[in-house]
Amino acid sequence: MSYFDSFSISRKLGIMGGTFDPIHYGHLVAAEAVRDRFQLDKVLFIPSGNPPHKNSKNVTDAIHRYNMTLLATAANPYFEVSRIEIDRKGITYTIDTIKELMTLYGSGTELFFITGADALLEILTWYKVDELLKLCNFVAATRPGFNKKDLEQKLHEIKSKYSKEVFQIEIPSLAISSTDIRTRVNNNHTFKYLLPESVEQYIIKHGIYRE
Ligand code: ATP
Ligand code: MG
Repeated sequence: MSYFDSFSISRKLGIMGGTFDPIHYGHLVAAEAVRDRFQLDKVLFIPSGNPPHKNSKNVTDAIHRYNMTLLATAANPYFEVSRIEIDRKGITYTIDTIKELMTLYGSGTELFFITGADALLEILTWYKVDELLKLCNFVAATRPGFNKKDLEQKLHEIKSKYSKEVFQIEIPSLAISSTDIRTRVNNNHTFKYLLPESVEQYIIKHGIYRE
């Protein structure tokens, strides 16, 4: 290690947040593409916590979503799963997670928050977005069904409002969504090859998504 190295940013950490209900190949391809492009040392998958009060949005128990995320990422040495949001009580804001990770990993770590185009289009509505944009980098991955022009327009808007460049990355298009997988399971249709086989087996074993 040179003298200069010890003063430069030593680690780059990717953050892949999601409900992961269930995790599928769209998530994995996006995370891996961003890892490769930005030479990240690690990508942390962070399943969201369950809402404190059961509301209209029925989300599968965090423990199942966490286990499926573990199974799906186990074979990639760069992937890790964090319990940071599922163990937190109350409402989870991304800003709290980012601050906690910064304390945990230290100031030598540069953060890259990975989102799909749909999530990025909503980012300006997020809690404390101005602070969030100052604390970490954002990378938007293309996603089928989400117009590239809309995404570029949003990136432009963010740049002029917050003087912050959000990165964009083209990934192999996978028109896979958790919603579609849940519907398929519930309707007794095949959901093979949309997610890792270990996750498919886990869903069947525990009877998840069958009403
Ligand atoms: P749901 O249908 O329940 O909303 P989802 O498939 O959108 O599920 P999420 O857990 O909501 O999955 O997404 C987590 C993150 O992964 C978001 O930033 C989302 O944009 C991104 N993502 C999900 N699926 C894809 C995909 N097929 N290609 C690219 N990005 C994706
Ligand atoms: Mg979604």
